[in-house]
Amino acid sequence: MDVVNPASGEVIAQAAMAGSADLDKAVAAARAAFNDTQWSRMPPAQRSAMLYRCAQLIMANAQELAQLEVSASGGTIGRVTGLDIPAVVDLFMMLAEEVVDYPFVENLAPRILPEMWHTQVWKQAIGVCGLITAWNFPLLLFGLKVAPALAAGNTIVIKPSEATPTSTIRLVEILQQALPAGVLNVLNGDGPSLGEPISLHPGIDKVSFTGSTAVGKRVQVNCAASLKRCTLELGGKGPGIVLPDADLDMVAQGALWGVYMNAGQACESGSRLLVHEDVYDELLEKLAQRSAEVVVGNPMDPATGMGPMSSQAHFNKVLSYIQSAIEQGARIICGGDQAAVAGCEGGFFVQATVLADMDNQMKAAREEIFGPVLAVIKFSSEAEAIALANDSDYGLSAGVWTRDLVRAQQIATELNAGSIWINDWHMMRTDAPFGGFRQSGYGREFGKYSIDSYVETKAVSTSFETSPSKKNLHRIVHTQMA
Ligand code: NAD
Repeated sequence: MDVVNPASGEVIAQAAMAGSADLDKAVAAARAAFNDTQWSRMPPAQRSAMLYRCAQLIMANAQELAQLEVSASGGTIGRVTGLDIPAVVDLFMMLAEEVVDYPFVENLAPRILPEMWHTQVWKQAIGVCGLITAWNFPLLLFGLKVAPALAAGNTIVIKPSEATPTSTIRLVEILQQALPAGVLNVLNGDGPSLGEPISLHPGIDKVSFTGSTAVGKRVQVNCAASLKRCTLELGGKGPGIVLPDADLDMVAQGALWGVYMNAGQACESGSRLLVHEDVYDELLEKLAQRSAEVVVGNPMDPATGMGPMSSQAHFNKVLSYIQSAIEQGARIICGGDQAAVAGCEGGFFVQATVLADMDNQMKAAREEIFGPVLAVIKFSSEAEAIALANDSDYGLSAGVWTRDLVRAQQIATELNAGSIWINDWHMMRTDAPFGGFRQSGYGREFGKYSIDSYVETKAVSTSFETSPSKKNLHRIVHTQMA
């Protein structure tokens, strides 16, 4: 299958497409590696050293990985080298630290009644994990799933998006230097030929999926057939509430960082801005001014702030959302069309776009556009703003812009989202949990929280009462006991 550079429209690579027979082989390799107890019961300290080694290998190969990532995904070189790859390295190092103290074995305090049992709680690897990722941050999504799955002692079959397989395939190849054979396997393929078979495969014990809500629901249904463990990281429609006391220059800059990062192709984007009526017009002016300064360009150029849409089809979809908003009564404050980029004439670029006078019921306010499009909605009271923010199928990110931090905390308690950001956006730390409420999915990634998604919990109880006559509970059945 062709891999296309979205900045030029040119084919940059061809990737083999795997089918069910290849999946069977990969699952068999992963199962054999899991059954080798040297891997699945490796002491945490040894596993930690292995994760550090993975981090070192990623750092040592950062330049090559960055080139592959930018050329297939259209993410800017500044972000991929300055944020994504350091974050992936940090994730592996964070998990290397967390795994040492992770409660793989815990003792419960003894209880006297009904008798002296000693109970331990063990956390054990689940088995073979099928990891399915999206095209928007291939390396980052790899790190979010692979690092904790390895930390817990699982083995892996990973499927990147068929649109952006190159960086994942190369990274799996690189990490073979640190991992035993069969532990980490990669297959390229699309949803119908490979994604579906992964979610249905009887040899896969857990699926972790990142992608759209529509496909996520299908994955969950497939997993339900065998009650496979399932984690879903899905879409979002993040609302940011601007209170009238906010620093409007900071909001203009920060809200646009919230929506234009990766040209809006981020699940946690702040794509709805709810603005108090007292500051609405002034803020719109500032948003238009700052948007016009954003450099849309070749993602390989370090001066570029916003790269292309991931594909021609996605480009068309983003423009059609803008069109639908206009038809439903929205006003374009800036952008709204294809962006011309010299030297990248075949690319799929969209202008930085702000839509004013949006209503929360409009299609462009309810559905995930996944492009550089900010929907601005006016409100009159805080209660209205909170209701508007929560009036969404999604619940991944939400935020508040205000100088009153006490009020911000109070509003945060009322917002239904997995990440709440006060006076900034995209504040994601590798040690803080990240994941969705409602149709943004469930399960948490990042840090020690992510290990929880890759273990089964077992209660192991031992009785120290050796006299049959003193086994108090047995009297329920053995009513004739001495
Ligand atoms: P997508 O759902 O189209 O595809 C995601 C992955 O699923 C791809 O690898 C694809 O090949 C595979 N797939 C497609 N059909 C499948 C099927 N029937 N069964 C199993 N797998 C199948 O999503 P996308 O367009 O690649 O990515 C964009 C979406 O991902 C957006 O909705 C975005 O919000 C979401 N996303 C969420 C997070 C998060 O952490 N919550 C992070 C990044 C992206």
